[in-house]
Amino acid sequence: MLQGLDDLYQEIILDHHRNPRNQGLVEPADLSAKGFNPFCGDQVVLTAGLDHSGHLAHVGMEGQGCAISQASASIMGELIKGKSLEEAEALVELFKQVMVGHELTVDEADQLGELAALEGVRNFPVRIKCALLGWSTLQDAIREFQKSSD
Ligand code: ZN
Repeated sequence: MLQGLDDLYQEIILDHHRNPRNQGLVEPADLSAKGFNPFCGDQVVLTAGLDHSGHLAHVGMEGQGCAISQASASIMGELIKGKSLEEAEALVELFKQVMVGHELTVDEADQLGELAALEGVRNFPVRIKCALLGWSTLQDAIREFQKSSD
C-alpha cells in the first residue's frame, strides 16, 4: 500500500478498511456531516447521537474511498465514542498536529491508540487529506451542532 509504512501499522489500517467499525447511520442524529476529498475521491458520512450528559453515545458512518481514509474514520469512531464534544475536538486537533509533524508524547500516543498507526502517513503529503477526512467531517459536525444549539 504505502512503501515505508511499518508492517504492523499496515495491518491495523487494512483491518479497519476491510472491517470498518460503526457502519450504518444513526437516526435521528444529533450531529451529522458529510466529507469529500476530491484529490482521492474519498467520502465519509458521519452521524452521532448524544446522551443526556452531552457525550457521544452512538456513532454511525458510511463511506467509501481508499484504505487510509476509511481506516482513519473507522478508528476515529471507536475513539470518540463516550467522549464529550470538547474531548472529541481535542482529539481532532491532536491528530491534525501529528499530520503536520508533531511528535507524540507517550501520553498522547495512548490517547490516540490505533490511530498512532497512521502517524507515518504524514510522510506522504498527498495522503494526509485522506487520513484527515473523517476528522474534518467530525469537526464540521460539531461546529454545525454548536451553531444550531446556540
Ligand atoms: Zn484517499
